[in-house]
Amino acid sequence: MTRRAPCDLLVHSASEVFTAAGGPAGPLWGRDQGRTFPVRDGAVACTGGRIAAVGPTSTLRRRYAPQAEVDAAGGCVIPGLVDAHTHLCFAGDRAREFERRCLGATYQEIAAAGGGILSSVHAFRDASDRQVLAGMRALRRSALLHGTTTMEVKSGYGLSAEQEIRALDLIRRLDDRGDVVPTFLGAHAVPPEFQGRTAAYVKSVCEEMIPEVARRGLARFCDVFCEKKYFDAAQSRTILEAAKAHGLGLRIHADELSSCGGAELAADLGCASADHLLEVSEAGIREMSRAGVIAVLLPATSYFLGMRKFAPARRMIESGVPIAIATDCNPGSSMTENLQQAMAMGCVGLHLTAAEALVAATRNAAWSLGMGPEVGSLAPGMRADLVVLDVPDLRLLPYHHGVNHAAVVVHHGEVVG
Ligand SMILES: [Zn+2]
Repeated sequence: MTRRAPCDLLVHSASEVFTAAGGPAGPLWGRDQGRTFPVRDGAVACTGGRIAAVGPTSTLRRRYAPQAEVDAAGGCVIPGLVDAHTHLCFAGDRAREFERRCLGATYQEIAAAGGGILSSVHAFRDASDRQVLAGMRALRRSALLHGTTTMEVKSGYGLSAEQEIRALDLIRRLDDRGDVVPTFLGAHAVPPEFQGRTAAYVKSVCEEMIPEVARRGLARFCDVFCEKKYFDAAQSRTILEAAKAHGLGLRIHADELSSCGGAELAADLGCASADHLLEVSEAGIREMSRAGVIAVLLPATSYFLGMRKFAPARRMIESGVPIAIATDCNPGSSMTENLQQAMAMGCVGLHLTAAEALVAATRNAAWSLGMGPEVGSLAPGMRADLVVLDVPDLRLLPYHHGVNHAAVVVHHGEVVG
């Protein structure tokens, strides 16, 4: 008998390991959106924080002598979830505003009355670094226990050069293992000091903030809230072009509340993602497909804002646009860090299958962050991030919703406890 190779951890006896690994490199789209590349009665061997092998339990048991084991006990194993759109760097809460909305006020009415993003800007500026970090760490920890091993975090509640740098610096302090992808969102709203002077604020974002953020290496992406009464398509283009010139990747909040050319702009500039897209035009979908822009859809936001409308995900899939799903975790329009719940809402609101939602929240989300070769699927050499679910059939994940199905989370090859 050949000697078994040592490995740090063997996760075994899964009903299926949904690897999301296979096909051509890159995100999955069209008919492949729901291809999960499963291994029946599967196992995953991990060593040195990386995946050593994925295969049937019987095969890996013969091949490996593990230091530690996790018995998946007939549950599904999936890649660690990747949350590609969060605004975790905030202070305070907006529960009062939420209740007003429940009673009928609209998001725009609340913003006009001094609530909305600007109330979070005041709260962030007034909060100490310790308070903001403690809040972020609690959400990060909770997200991890719900299976989210990688997440993008945006700035955007500082809205001055000093406060945006502070936000990105706090985001940097959240992570030392490459699990948090920082995005500069100085153009989240026009701050109080610049009310009525949007053009001057755009200039400040382009000429003061972006060069400084890039010089300090504080962000991997730049994002813009392209929306009526925030930043129109021309202003968004100016900001994103400045960011591109400074070597930042591009993302965009596009066509959420109105159709304003955000998707077309994303395609034209080669954005990594266009996010929200409830009001995307047919031309916008075509352009995104042609340019390979990933649609990051945020169904938990539709729910939280009491909207009847969700993004036209099936049209995008038919047109060959890769779909990702994220939480949009933020204090105003989506106060949840539970990506499993966003996937469930994606099945109901975006009309996705469980398999399509899984690919959306793993492999495609990872590619939207430029991290596809590292996380989001289970294959040898990838980061050993995976989740053992307490359900034997993937369809039970969105079906039995509102609870945490992560029985075991493995992060960098270590069981999170
Ligand atoms: Zn957002």
